[in-house]
Amino acid sequence: MRILVAEDDNISRILLTRCLEQLGHQCRVATDGAEAWLLLQDSEFDVLVTDWMMPELDGIELVRRLRSLEQTHYTYVVLLTALSKKEDYVAGMESGADDYLTKPLDRDALKAKLIAAERIVSLHRRMREQTAELERLNRILYETGRVDRLTGVSNRLRMEEDLASIHSRIVRYGHTYCLALVDIDFFKKYNDTYGHGEGDNCLRAVAQCLRGQARTGDEVYRYGGEEFLLVFPEQTADRGAIAMERIRAAVEAMLIPHEGRGPGEVVTISGGVTVMSPANDRSVQQVLDDADKALYQAKKQGRNRIVFYDLGTVTSEAT
Ligand code: GH3
Ligand code: MG
Ligand code: MG
Ligand code: MG
Repeated sequence: MRILVAEDDNISRILLTRCLEQLGHQCRVATDGAEAWLLLQDSEFDVLVTDWMMPELDGIELVRRLRSLEQTHYTYVVLLTALSKKEDYVAGMESGADDYLTKPLDRDALKAKLIAAERIVSLHRRMREQTAELERLNRILYETGRVDRLTGVSNRLRMEEDLASIHSRIVRYGHTYCLALVDIDFFKKYNDTYGHGEGDNCLRAVAQCLRGQARTGDEVYRYGGEEFLLVFPEQTADRGAIAMERIRAAVEAMLIPHEGRGPGEVVTISGGVTVMSPANDRSVQQVLDDADKALYQAKKQGRNRIVFYDLGTVTSEAT
């Protein structure tokens, strides 16, 4: 174990250190409490064997300070002192020590105390490793729980969490976001024509295209079925509309055949875009409803197009 020895008496310190090293431990030494305190803040020790009576900072105060440190690592403390009354023992333990040894130093007693120390230290180490592993698994679980399994884009749970935090940022910092609800055109027919498995492949391809087209900071979510939500942070209505038109064109340009629509037809998307800004303060649900209304218009106007809520259709010419 890595052991820190704090002892102001030269002879005692040398004897104690030698004894610990003979027992196979690594020792650092401090010649008073203040020096020990600096070392404790600087490095991790498994055990502190400290004298009680030392000038400036005594063993009791040293242990108290050690216990007030927010350590993830546990340092087992053995208080070593000439004070041998029962009240001293209690006071020593109350200060935060784990064990207590009286002077003169008895090698076997020290050895016995270190056996207990080793057990506690390894228990703490195992606990720390298990906690770290649990935290790692929790992070994985957290992440996988927020990804759509079919398409690999963020799922609805993450969407709901993100929209709530986006909404609060709009209210608090005056940020503006552009949102687009995207829906694959005649997807039922696609499934009917090519089968559900091919439908899944098509969904993946469209999702990857959306993600590939989105810029850093933009986010793509699977809203449900063959619908996706895109969020463009810090985008004005104009720029969001331009981005969506570019994305619509990119999906069309994949040229995924959709014979169910008619000969030579390809897979396309329709989109409804709206803006969330402090000037236009609506609840998240109202914003989604507005995007949905715009999407409905895009479908009604013939599909494969982007409609901006309140502003009307966005055409390639307009961009
Ligand atoms: P519109 O252009 O009006 O959007 O027509 P549509 O056929 O795309 O719309 P509709 O809502 O009638 O059909 C959506 C289809 O999407 C029906 C459903 O079976 C299919 N779908 C939803 N989720 C999945 C999925 O995970 N995989 C596959 N293959 N199909 C899906
Ligand atoms: Mg002393
Ligand atoms: Mg749909
Ligand atoms: Mg559809």
